[in-house]
Amino acid sequence: MLAELLVPWFDEHARDLPWRRPETTPWGVLVSEFMLQQTPVKRVEPIWLDWMRRWPTPSELAAAPQSDVLRAWGKLGYPRRALRLHAAASAIATGHGDIVPSDVDELLALPGVGAYTARAVAAFGYQRRAPVVDTNVRRVIARAVHGAGDAGPPRTTADLADAEALLPSDDLVAARFSAALMELGAVRCTVRNPGCEGCPVFGECAWQAHGRPEYTGPSRPVQRFAGTDRQVRGRLLDVLRDAPGPVPRTALDDAWSEPAQRDRCLFSLLTDGLVEHLPDGSFALPGERVPGH
Ligand code: SF4
Repeated sequence: MLAELLVPWFDEHARDLPWRRPETTPWGVLVSEFMLQQTPVKRVEPIWLDWMRRWPTPSELAAAPQSDVLRAWGKLGYPRRALRLHAAASAIATGHGDIVPSDVDELLALPGVGAYTARAVAAFGYQRRAPVVDTNVRRVIARAVHGAGDAGPPRTTADLADAEALLPSDDLVAARFSAALMELGAVRCTVRNPGCEGCPVFGECAWQAHGRPEYTGPSRPVQRFAGTDRQVRGRLLDVLRDAPGPVPRTALDDAWSEPAQRDRCLFSLLTDGLVEHLPDGSFALPGERVPGH
């Protein structure tokens, strides 16, 4: 029933996002899904378009140096995603004939691809019937199906089963429905102030039927950014991305004034393989060398 209401709504109201256009390849879908994890659409759009121009196939990305990949990732944040995507591109190029797999288990075996991304690629890249569950989908299902105010903490198996139960049997319709469910959660059934008036599933929504009970589960952690290690790591990487090549230690010291936090963050970047310490004492993005060495 939800599908009958949501798919026509989606046909009419879906946002025109570049990775949703018919010419987008499964590779383009995979790249978009890596980028969209914890990053808003508006920030992803220009970077995704740039990546698709530069690296339209997995093998083209796989052939690029990691330093180029990290520079092109720009300020999307969580830059380990860029290296994992690079590793996934290599695995697709060498192990799958440069074609993104359509099978969920094969997708799950790729570096950096988890339960959500594997099913998103199967559904949006290959129009397969696969339950695609992100926070937006969980919230819509919690409200519309279970009558709860919000979804509470993730329960992967139960969440997948919930979404699976709603999927129409036809592959194409199921894939469209999955996209529609996500869209409803992103633009209308939002965390605060859901736009219930005019919602396509208003008449079927269990939360409405139950009198809109308040959410009483655990509260979600507030994500702060200023002063966190994440911010410091970002500042240090900015220095390396903006430089044409390796930089001296002093350039990194200037990026953050608190030495203990700065050292901790630099160490974690080295451990994550996002920065390299070169024999001459300078620091660089991975794969970057001092000219002449
Ligand atoms: S009616 Fe409101 S709570 Fe129910 S699905 Fe629509 S937006 Fe969400």
